[in-house]
Amino acid sequence: MRDTRLPAKRGACALILCGLAAAPAASGQSSGGGSVYVATPKVSKVTCLRKCASRDRARGGSVLKVLGTELGGVNAVTYLGSYGSGDDTTVKVRAGGERRLNARVPIGAVTGPIALATSSGARSAPTKPVLILPPLPPEPNPELSPVPGPGVTGAPRLETGTSRTKAFVGARPGVTFSFRLSGASAAALKLELVSATDGVAVKTWTPQQVAPHQVQSISWDGRLGRMAAKPGRYSFRLTAATADGAEARNSQAGDVGRDSFDLYDNIFPVRGPHDFGGEGAKFGSGRAGHSHQGHDVFARCGTRMVAARGGRVKFKQYHAAAGHYIVIDGDGTDVDYAYMHLDQPSPFDEGDRVYSGQTIGAVGDSGNADGCHLHFELWSAPGWYDGGKPFDPLPSLTAWDSWS
Ligand SMILES: [Zn+2]
Repeated sequence: MRDTRLPAKRGACALILCGLAAAPAASGQSSGGGSVYVATPKVSKVTCLRKCASRDRARGGSVLKVLGTELGGVNAVTYLGSYGSGDDTTVKVRAGGERRLNARVPIGAVTGPIALATSSGARSAPTKPVLILPPLPPEPNPELSPVPGPGVTGAPRLETGTSRTKAFVGARPGVTFSFRLSGASAAALKLELVSATDGVAVKTWTPQQVAPHQVQSISWDGRLGRMAAKPGRYSFRLTAATADGAEARNSQAGDVGRDSFDLYDNIFPVRGPHDFGGEGAKFGSGRAGHSHQGHDVFARCGTRMVAARGGRVKFKQYHAAAGHYIVIDGDGTDVDYAYMHLDQPSPFDEGDRVYSGQTIGAVGDSGNADGCHLHFELWSAPGWYDGGKPFDPLPSLTAWDSWS
């Protein structure tokens, strides 16, 4: 099915306090001889109420105040994020009044419109983008440290550590969880990766038993099989049980943040000072004979450039206008990523696999470029000059820039 929420249709919105896209009004539907009234929620204003990043900006963990009409039956709010449904997150909300409700911003939510749904299936139009900054980072625990708390009599003592608090889908190395047991030996070990957004374990490992005091590690690259996991906060949850059933866990009540990290779906490709240019840098701005199909990110020539998202290299060529360029089919996405005007040919060739965050070249001005910059394009499926369409990459670039 075609995704109708392409970011190209959205205006960039610097503030959370935005005008709203036109929403369909409540409609009367003819049904036999009578008429069934379907109350369609309509949003007029969204503001950040509590735990906000600033007055106008929310972050994962904030509470939004939503004003509108026909809100009485609303029981869920979906944060639509950027392109595609991969980053959508839905939270339940308690029924409130007809004109107001409060909605929690899930840890994994990113900047984008929100939409309300009622228990009877009516859905509001998507709002204009709500600016959502990344959540405050989890407490780092990069070295093995003893699990706090009294522990259970007869259970092993645990030390755990998690290599990073920020991880990217498809990056190498991924995030590594390490642990060491002492005291009693464990008959059964279980490691779960739990999403903080909904408390669901998305992946489970059953590590082999090892001798006490030996360190064991497990790494994860943000993928579940061939699919990318949803962005958001995740926690490693280790349970070690003895044959008698005495259990030790790395997370005690009141320490929910231990061994947690935030997973992001993309990394900002220009790894140095940069700016997003003026009017001419924008997607859709006028060019001789066509309109601009990407967004220009200005940086000094030679600034390191990385793959925003890993994947397979589709094209690596030189073109009179684009200069040295490379196109990567984003792993686990239906999006192609194009990087142009590189100062040298990328070291990668067509068919190569690239990891997220891996260096693919440097900013340059090869081809027809006015100043050193990355001309960056995002294309929908089926791909770059292969039946897909370019869409405005600026909302994505801005979001990636805010966390990486
Ligand atoms: Zn350009």
